[in-house]
Amino acid sequence: MRLLSLLLLTSIVYAADYRAGVARIKITPEQRIWLSGYANRTKPAEGTLSDLYAKALAIEDKKGKRVVIITTDLIGLPRVMTDLISARLQKEHRLERSQILFNSSHTHTGPVIRANLMTMYSLPPEQDKLLADYSRDLAGKLFTTAAAALGQLKPASLRQTQGTAKFAINRRQAAATGVRIGLNPQGPVDHSVPVLEVLSEDGRPLAILFGYACHNTTLTGEHYLYSGDYAGFAQTELETIYPGATAMFLMLCGGDANPNPRTKEEHARAHGKELAAAVKTALDGKPTRVRGELRSAFQTIRLNFRPHTREDFENEAKSTNTYAVKRAKEMLAAYDAGNAVRSTPYPIHAIRFGKDMTILALGGEVVVDYALRAKREHPKERLVVAGYSNDVMCYIPSLRVLKEGGYEADSSMIYYGMPGPFAEDVEESIMSSVTAVLKRVGVK
Ligand SMILES: [Zn+2]
Repeated sequence: MRLLSLLLLTSIVYAADYRAGVARIKITPEQRIWLSGYANRTKPAEGTLSDLYAKALAIEDKKGKRVVIITTDLIGLPRVMTDLISARLQKEHRLERSQILFNSSHTHTGPVIRANLMTMYSLPPEQDKLLADYSRDLAGKLFTTAAAALGQLKPASLRQTQGTAKFAINRRQAAATGVRIGLNPQGPVDHSVPVLEVLSEDGRPLAILFGYACHNTTLTGEHYLYSGDYAGFAQTELETIYPGATAMFLMLCGGDANPNPRTKEEHARAHGKELAAAVKTALDGKPTRVRGELRSAFQTIRLNFRPHTREDFENEAKSTNTYAVKRAKEMLAAYDAGNAVRSTPYPIHAIRFGKDMTILALGGEVVVDYALRAKREHPKERLVVAGYSNDVMCYIPSLRVLKEGGYEADSSMIYYGMPGPFAEDVEESIMSSVTAVLKRVGVK
């Protein structure tokens, strides 16, 4: 009798509510490619500290609806690439755009990805071909990995939980000259570590998807080895703790958060360990079952920039800042072509698992205010708010951050080749569309 009830209990815990498949592929460049994220680097990568991966998790509900989540140890996948891969997945695997989610960890010790942050670098000419070859190869690898995950669907159950890690700190420090990148212990931050665990039929973890809202910038511009930074170390650590499982990092709204402390390899390893421990502690607690049908919605809106004129860029072209001159020339060329850049496309994406969990995935380097606001506005929903998803076109400041100014609001736009700060309706434009997209997946 006891054995029977134990068996019943086991079958309840591990009832296969879904089918799931995982796949991974190494994407560490074989060549010495320029590392992305810092403007001050003077030479390409010199080797590998830890390998970079793309990983895919495919999930199918009982009605046959599928989603595939693709995570990458990369600075930021641009829309040109995710569009290309999505189109192929849509055609060859009969998916809709809303069933495919791309996320970038924003590691600053990964390769430059075309055309993300292209104004940031003055690359030696031999890098052009290396970057083009790498990007082309990467697009093929991401498709293959997603297809492999979709091709290996097996009965699975899902559980979700949440932990806490404390190493993220708000980096927008007030100074006499305005906001600069530093440490702001009083500034808003999101220390939550959401976890989605995928268990195979025998109860073993198949995949562990976990997120954190913090730049992967422990390793600063003096580092010249490929690595996934803290997120890379956290994934490796989790795959050691849970043999056979694929650990996948989802970058959340960490646009204005840095790891603290930073600069040394040992710091990145320690943050990785802390994050992995947070995931394990959460899973050792009482994760709750996730079940029910999958729903997904995807919308692209346009975000307006603050109005500008040709004269603004004619003046900027005379600047002593070489990056600003480069941006000015690009903007003047756009004016010449009758195509002045007034707005940018912006993707808003949601995937809901029954009533048990929703991933809201926003494009760009989203500051934490968006995650805090979305969670505040939907207190009953288990909401995971990811940034750096589907496209990384620039920083996405809240109205508060936009008004305060500083790197995330203003100067970063130069490196991203954007005309200037967003107009003041940026936060309301995004949040009203977030409400609409969430409504389409059943979140009231
Ligand atoms: Zn960034």
